Order: sequence, then structure tokens, then C-alpha cells
Amino acid sequence: MTFDIVTIFPAMIEQPLAAGIIGRAIARGTLDVKVHDLRDFTTDRHRVVDDVPYGGGPGMVLKPDPIFRALDAIEAERGRPLTVILTSPQGARLTQAVAQRLSGAMHVVLLCGRYEGFDDRVRERVTEELSIGDYVLTGGELPALVVLDAVARLVPGVVGDEQSVAEDSFSRGLLDFPQYTRPAEIAGGSPAGGEAGASDGGARILKVPDVLLSGNHAEIRRWRKREALSRTLTRRPDLLDGATLDEEETELLRELKGARDGRD
Ligand code: SAH
Repeated sequence: MTFDIVTIFPAMIEQPLAAGIIGRAIARGTLDVKVHDLRDFTTDRHRVVDDVPYGGGPGMVLKPDPIFRALDAIEAERGRPLTVILTSPQGARLTQAVAQRLSGAMHVVLLCGRYEGFDDRVRERVTEELSIGDYVLTGGELPALVVLDAVARLVPGVVGDEQSVAEDSFSRGLLDFPQYTRPAEIAGGSPAGGEAGASDGGARILKVPDVLLSGNHAEIRRWRKREALSRTLTRRPDLLDGATLDEEETELLRELKGARDGRD
């Protein structure tokens, strides 16, 4: 799968992409990522990418012509079809389902805005407009990295253990169960949010749930299902409507809801 990222700050993209799972996938050639400096697609001596808004008002707007030239160059190199994504707070919200769908695309282009955003005619060449959440950032570089990361880890061969991807939060519409590793017991220190200086937290021992140390795989599986369901029910009940549950999970959820309603 190929990604082309168009930005006026290539360094903001290049460094993060060199690390970790994505960095290794690029080094192996599983992912082909190119970062394009928008200024390379200007034709004037000062390499200007922005201009004042028609109609007046504050701020600057990204000019359409350098972006069109960048898209022409990318299309000439990669071929069609290009999936051109505009990062924008006005876009559809990025979700795991969107990431899953995009992971099936061949060539994804990510356009990073700055200033007041893009000349609106750029939207004519855009396949979809994505927002990473209801807040406004200073530029599209972080959103582009977020989209790339979420999509790329679903591309076969990028994450070593496919099973771990399948079990992650949202993959089946549920949050993930809690995870623990060694040691089995640890001194807790001060609890989060506790009053400064008021605690003897070092005396608290934090333990891993017994069931995980039991070696009983059937019970561990059931415990994990229950925890995933109970977390989802408490934190994100909205997800349960779209979740795919097996028979055991449906039964566990009924129990959990019963216990919850009993408490109310
Ligand atoms: N005036 C614009 C915001 C511009 S913010 C508006 O109100 O819609 C500058 C750039 O940052 C945008 O062009 C976009 O590329 C990026 N950006 C900011 N917030 C974002 C978000 N929540 N999701 C995706 N991209 C975002």
C-alpha cells in the first residue's frame, strides 16, 4: 500500500514515521510512504503556498494550484485510482470502521492543511474529508499521521501478530479487556488524584487478578470476555448497539446489565 503526504512541514511527518511498527513496515517495503513538500509545487521564486482570503477576513488560505500540481505529480507516479483524503475539522469522523475500509485502498494521499485551511475548490479533487475529532489543530500533519497509523496497522503484514489486531478495542465493537504483565504483585505508590503528601501509598500492594495466574484457559477466556463487556458497558455503552457478540457474550452482557440495574 502506498501513502503520499503533502505538507509544508515534511520534518513533522518524517521523524515520527521512522519509529516503531510503521518505521519497520516502511523499511521492509510493506508500506511505501512518500512525503511531499508543498513548496516544491509552487512556481514563484518565493515558493508561496498561501494567500489572503477573497472577501476579506483574518488569516491566510492555502492556494489551490500548488496542491493540484502535487496531485498531478502523485497520480503520474502512482497511477489511478488515488484515494485523496483532506484533513479537516469539518470532515467525517475517523473511526475504526473508516480505517478498516481505507486499509483496502491501493494509493492513499493525505493533504495537510495549515492557516485557515484550503481554498474550497481543492475539495473537487478530494475523495473524502476526515476529521480526527471535534477540536481544531494548527495543522493537518498530526491528523495525517493519525490516519496513516490507524490505517497502516490494519494492512496485512504491518503488525506481526494479526490476532492482536483482531482483538483490539473497536475491532468487534467492544473495548479491549485489561492486560497485565509481570510482576504479579507491586507496591502501588500514591493513588492517582490523592492529596499530596497525605498518603502512605507505598504500603498498598497491587495484584494481578488471580484468574490470570490460574492457568485455567477456559476461565481466563470467559473473564476477558466479561471484562471487555463490562468496560464497554461502563465507558462506552453506545458501542454495544453495533457490537457483534457471540452467545456467551450475549449472556454475560445480560448478567452485567442485570447486576447494574439491581444496584440502581
Ligand atoms: N478554519 C478551518 C480550520 C483550519 S485548521 C475550519 O474551521 O474548518 C488548519 C488545518 O489543520 C486544517 O486545514 C486541517 O488540515 C487541520 N486540522 C485541524 N483540526 C483538525 C481536525 N480536528 N481533524 C483533521 N484535521 C484538522
